[in-house]
Amino acid sequence: MPPITKHYNYLVIGGGSGGLASARRAAGRYGVSAAIIEGSGRLGGTCVNVGCVPKKVMWAAADTAKRLEDASNYGFNIGDKPKFDWTPFVEKRNAYITRLNGIYERNLIKDKVDYISGWARFAGDKGEKIVEVSLLSGGTEYYTADHILLSVGGYASIPTEIPGAHYGTTSDGFFKLEKQPKRVALVGAGYIGVELAGVFNALGTETHFFIRGETVLRHFDPMIQEYLTQIYIKHGVHLHKKSKSFEKVVKLPSGALQITYEDENGKSEIEVDTLIWAVGRGPNTAGLKLDIPGIKTDSKDYVVVDEFQNTSIPGIYSVGDDIGWLELTPVAIAAGRRLSDRLFGGPQFKDRKLDYSNVPTAVFSHPEVGTVGLTEPEAREKFGTENVKIYLSKFIGMYYAVFDKQEDKESTVYKLIVAGPEEKVVGLHIVGDASAEILQGFGVAIKMGATKDDFDSCVAIHPTSAEELVTLV
Ligand code: FAD
Ligand code: NDP
Repeated sequence: MPPITKHYNYLVIGGGSGGLASARRAAGRYGVSAAIIEGSGRLGGTCVNVGCVPKKVMWAAADTAKRLEDASNYGFNIGDKPKFDWTPFVEKRNAYITRLNGIYERNLIKDKVDYISGWARFAGDKGEKIVEVSLLSGGTEYYTADHILLSVGGYASIPTEIPGAHYGTTSDGFFKLEKQPKRVALVGAGYIGVELAGVFNALGTETHFFIRGETVLRHFDPMIQEYLTQIYIKHGVHLHKKSKSFEKVVKLPSGALQITYEDENGKSEIEVDTLIWAVGRGPNTAGLKLDIPGIKTDSKDYVVVDEFQNTSIPGIYSVGDDIGWLELTPVAIAAGRRLSDRLFGGPQFKDRKLDYSNVPTAVFSHPEVGTVGLTEPEAREKFGTENVKIYLSKFIGMYYAVFDKQEDKESTVYKLIVAGPEEKVVGLHIVGDASAEILQGFGVAIKMGATKDDFDSCVAIHPTSAEELVTLV
């Protein structure tokens, strides 16, 4: 075996949300010697580079387009429809991401975490815990550590069975689009499909959205599924329900893509400029040689961990998307920090771990969706239908009161699910403006075990939409 370059107390593979948070906590708070190995050349991982952050910037652009459409209702005469200029805006967005990459690097220096720029994998004989790094600058180095964290995130899937599927791209490709496509096809009814369909549609791209079922977000509460599906159709998204696997995708001489598909209306063809697959993600574990130390993975290659983030090999842990639990940035961060507390924070943190229940999450659709806890079917299944009560409110928020046309007024829908005689809140599902912001505070209450009475005991803030949540009858 070649010589070991350095032995660390804590070695983190992957400089994304979970890895950065865990390494900084270990070195910055507890003073352990720590390093991060990141292969992409940019810190921040999926969220910062090709996920939450640039996505939210695009969402904000789309939201602005909607507000501009609304403006005449508020007495503004803004003349012709304002034109959105994709290319310079995307350059600004990218410059912001580059600034963030720099801030993340400086934060590592501040916390005395070494940054090793290269791709990692395990090396050596079976049973060894040596990490080999192919440096981006050239050459190979070898590291060992008392504790090793895997936080390598995931990749976006592209179906392999459809001829020509590779002409399409994924959310990664979305962030590389230098020009706004005139026509786009999106496949996949989850978070990414819904969010990107909302962005394209609001910015004026002809948006074809292919979903396998009748509704989007099929894992969410039925109210959210049905209402958001209706709204997307109303907003002009061409929703292809009950879409079967595409027969083929052909690249035409013009560069356009011709898709042969079958949906609820039968078989047809369509031409688009861009095709985006949003059919789920898989873990970045393939090249890691996890079999060398003997780390167990499941049938989809996710790292198997216990509730303390321990893998099957002592001294090796994993957090974030590569374990496939809840693929959300704050979850990776929270799990990473708790793990460092447990490993390095002393005896008071010996049982520290993340509680994965009641994690609030938002979909940055148009309008936004917020959800925490159980869906109605899950609550009925868990507590028995007779022990579950639903409080539902559908109303037109005051923002729309002065709108000239009735059809432009958008409903807000809130659903509170309570269980048992004490009416403990076990689920909250909201669709409407500012849902993501509203949900964060209610998430705290629900995590603390709030009941319907607790909600009602909080005096409303008027006039808001959120006040409906503390006055539900
Ligand atoms: P990542 O952030 O993916 O980091 C993993 C890092 O490991 C990467 O930098 C990768 O280059 C590196 N790496 C991989 N293999 C190796 C190797 N062998 N050697 C060295 N380095 C390696 N979540 C939210 O909470 N809110 C949102 O709004 C949101 N929006 C999203 C939008 C999109 C389009 C996508 C794709 C995801 C979004 N997510 C969102 C999910 C969120 O981005 C992830 O849950 C989060 O980034 C997971 O963090 P992680 O640390 O597990 O992995
Ligand atoms: P999701 O798991 O959310 O959704 C993918 C959807 O694609 C499935 O639910 C399924 O819906 C559909 N699908 C799966 N396979 C196929 C197929 N072969 N053909 C057509 N449709 C298919 O994955 P995403 O890729 O959207 O996002 C990955 C994860 O990233 C999310 O789960 C989330 O955790 C995270 N994320 C979080 C965001 C946020 O917090 N706002 C934003 C973006 C991502 P169906 O069964 O209905 O067909």
